[in-house]
Amino acid sequence: MRILNPRLLAVISALLCVSSALAAENDVDLLIAAMLGDTPLTDDLHELTDTIGGRVTGTVANKQAVAWAEAKFRAAEVAVSTEEFEMPYEWQERLVQAHISGDVGFDVGVVAKPFSTPASALEAPLIDAGTGSAEDFARLGDTARGAWALIGTPVLNDEIGLGGLFAEYSDAAHIEPRAFAAGVAGLVFLSSRPNNLVYRHNAALGGKNEYPLLIIEREHGERAQRLLRDGKALSLTATIEIDAGNAFTATNVIGEIRGSVRPEEIVLFGAHLDSFALGTGALDNGVNVAMMINIARQIARLGLRPERTIRFALWNGEEQGLVGSWKYTEQHEDELDQHIVAASFDIGSGRTTGYFTGGRPDLVKLVEKYLQPVAGLGPFQQADVPIVGTDNFDFMMQGVPNLVANQADANYASNYHAESDTFDKVDQQQVRLNSAIAAAVLWGFANSTDRLPRLSHDEIEALINDTDLEKQMRDFAVWDGWASGQRGRHD
Ligand SMILES: [Zn+2]
Repeated sequence: MRILNPRLLAVISALLCVSSALAAENDVDLLIAAMLGDTPLTDDLHELTDTIGGRVTGTVANKQAVAWAEAKFRAAEVAVSTEEFEMPYEWQERLVQAHISGDVGFDVGVVAKPFSTPASALEAPLIDAGTGSAEDFARLGDTARGAWALIGTPVLNDEIGLGGLFAEYSDAAHIEPRAFAAGVAGLVFLSSRPNNLVYRHNAALGGKNEYPLLIIEREHGERAQRLLRDGKALSLTATIEIDAGNAFTATNVIGEIRGSVRPEEIVLFGAHLDSFALGTGALDNGVNVAMMINIARQIARLGLRPERTIRFALWNGEEQGLVGSWKYTEQHEDELDQHIVAASFDIGSGRTTGYFTGGRPDLVKLVEKYLQPVAGLGPFQQADVPIVGTDNFDFMMQGVPNLVANQADANYASNYHAESDTFDKVDQQQVRLNSAIAAAVLWGFANSTDRLPRLSHDEIEALINDTDLEKQMRDFAVWDGWASGQRGRHD
């Protein structure tokens, strides 16, 4: 663990003093003090990431993570249940290899993009497709047909941060259909992260993709790009072995602390247990799983009794289409009117700067009220816009007030879904502060009589029309689910 810096220590001790003075009369201060104190959060994260490791839905490690989470809630004396749901299809990379031949030959480091089709020593000319723009494919004309198209990407680093990450999703959503229309055999995207780092994201069509898709180590891809621009003729041969299969069963883990006054009213806070990283899913999203478990543990340990029922949802299947939280909204459809709020935590360990409140000014007011006890850890600024990309999505499409913790980019984007997303990247000191912030907001919702209406289908549609929600949904391959009525509220 890192040494706490003196300025931060001063903030914490000031908060602790305030807390202890008010402790007897104020449960939220007790809870905040507990979150800022010594807890097993770091040990939990170490176990989940270093011992269990990467947890792609459908793997043995994922099942181990489910059992681990269940045991953690149980040990904390928090009621826990597991809820099975069906994942529509299996997709896991088994082995991927590629080399370049022709005027110059060399091996290249590649990984498959999610939902890539398999390929068996597929050899085809490698062509320089620029940045994959419409002009690029117009220039290439027929030469794109049957070729591996090498797509250049801008560098993504911590300075560019989350904006760059969202742009990668958005760019791919335009490049892929364009390339397929041009008749390519497959796509090879330059890794946006230098120093031979590769990562597992994304495929614009999700599970509907029908092409081999690769990410190539940036240095290897740029070498090929330079040679192609010299006029050299190159071919790429790739083997992509995938374990692909039919629907299978995955499991959400739900910890519950029953409300003492209005138990039928539910405040749901969650983080996804699965990972898709080549690393061990520490920033995405082990850290927030450990945070959820730790908040539940501290509430139970202190014997605090919320007025409303609190559910801690550890979702599964998030990385492969936000499936676990989607299925929860189906399985708990009868209870959705009673869901006061559904909050998601999924942006690593950067400082919590506020919440995405989904385009609901009334929700902003509540969040700001509940943030008051941790005002010293601010400033906070709410972003009152809907956001797609994590497990708030299906709650939003069901009209349930929903939140996503907004966090400083920190090192999230540069390690996103990459081999480098490991325990050591997590800012343990900041996680403690984030835990206190999350716990304060949770406690505010759990002990209030404030209640916002659930939006109707028409109101959700109005939200879509008034914001960039449709574009985001298309970028994240979830638009069709809403448009076809498969996902979201019907009435
Ligand atoms: Zn995530």
